[in-house]
Formats: sequence, C-alpha cells, structure tokens
Amino acid sequence: MQVLFGGTFDPVHNGHVAMVDQLRSTFPSATIHVIPNNQPPHRNSEVSAAHRLEMLHLAMSHLQDININKIEFDRPGPSYTIDTLNGLREQFGNDESFVLVLGADVIRKMDSWYRPRTVPLLCNVCILNRAGECVEIPSVLAKMNEISDSGLLDNVPSGYLVRLQTPDLFISSTLVRSLIAQGTKQLPVPQTVADYLGKYDLYQDTE
Ligand code: ATP
Repeated sequence: MQVLFGGTFDPVHNGHVAMVDQLRSTFPSATIHVIPNNQPPHRNSEVSAAHRLEMLHLAMSHLQDININKIEFDRPGPSYTIDTLNGLREQFGNDESFVLVLGADVIRKMDSWYRPRTVPLLCNVCILNRAGECVEIPSVLAKMNEISDSGLLDNVPSGYLVRLQTPDLFISSTLVRSLIAQGTKQLPVPQTVADYLGKYDLYQDTE
C-alpha cells in the first residue's frame, strides 16, 4: 500500500508534520510518500525546490518509514498529480493500493485540475476532514465509493474514498511566510526548519 501526500511545502510546517504522523498511524502497513512538487501548477513557489526539499527532510527525519519522494523533480513543466500517479503506477503496477491524500483546500479546487476525472481510476482518495468541517465531495470524485473503514483500502488499488478526521490546526505555509516577513521569531514549524529558514534568510521578502 502506497500513501501519497503531495504539496508545495513552501515551507513545510507543524500542520504537515501532524498530518503525516496521523497517516503513519492510520495506515500502519503503508509506505507514506511525501511528494513535494517541482513546479506548482497554479502558482510560483517562493523559494527553490531544493530548499523546500531540504526542509522536508529536516521536518520528517524523526518519523519512521517516510519516503520523501522526488518523482516530480524528474519532470520538467508543471507538476500535475495525474502524471505523478501514472509514473507511480509504472513503478508499482496496477494491483497496488494507492491512497491519494487531499486536504480540504485542495479538494475545493479539484475541478480545475488537469484531467481530474482520471483520479478515481488510478487511486483511492483520503480526505483530510478537519474537526467541525464536512468537506463537500467535488463532482469529479462523486462516483467513488465512500467507506468509513480505512483498513479496507489495503487490498483495493483504486476507486474508494475515506475521510480521515483530523484536528483543527490553524497553520498554513501562507501564515508561516507572513510571520517571517513580519519578523516573528516563534514560527509553527519544527526547530530544525526554523534554523534552516534563518540560516538562508528565506521568505524575508514575502509580501
Ligand atoms: P499554502 O498556505 O501556501 O497554500 P499549505 O499550508 O496549504 O500552503 P501545501 O503544501 O499546499 O501547504 O499543502 C499540502 C497538503 O497539506 C494539502 O493537502 C493541504 O490541504 C494539507 N495541509 C496544509 N496545512 C494543513 C493543516 N494545517 N491541517 C491539515 N492539512 C493541511
């Protein structure tokens, strides 16, 4: 079973770390792939992909069996999820269980993705459902089979959807960038990442 948690991680923060920790315990037999995009499809990242990657390594180093997966770094152009899923299918075969993890904000924008209707054919989906929130399923995922037991995903390659109840952590990379630009010293990121941000003066000029 391969669990796929992608993002821009611009920069990685405590919310990401908490989610990966929760995925680790929810899917004990899985390899958890944290997949930084090389070139986000809908925006520019504020710092180089190499910096974002290095910070991910620092943030996740204490967690067991996490694969910081550079598959999107090997492709030029925008990092489309569909291309990543196809690339991983070539690597792992069609029978392997794939679980694509999507946060609420990502789900809301999914209709505007590149070839989103192919997603249910290539993987299962795990929605990060924050406390007190009921994420609406986008039309492109409407035909997926929603189940409540995430353990059942172990043996199905694609087509199923689960919601993972997650705590409300009011942290985003946008918040971290703006705190840095304001000169705030206490950041909601692991200490190793805070040290790295300071060492290279990253995000100082964020508007
Ligand atoms: P930005 O503020 O720049 O949009 P972000 O904090 O949402 O960034 P991303 O790298 O875009 O970070 O997110 C990667 C994944 O992590 C997405 O699926 C996103 O929904 C999820 N995520 C980010 N922050 C949280 C959080 N605090 N709680 C739960 N999920 C989160």
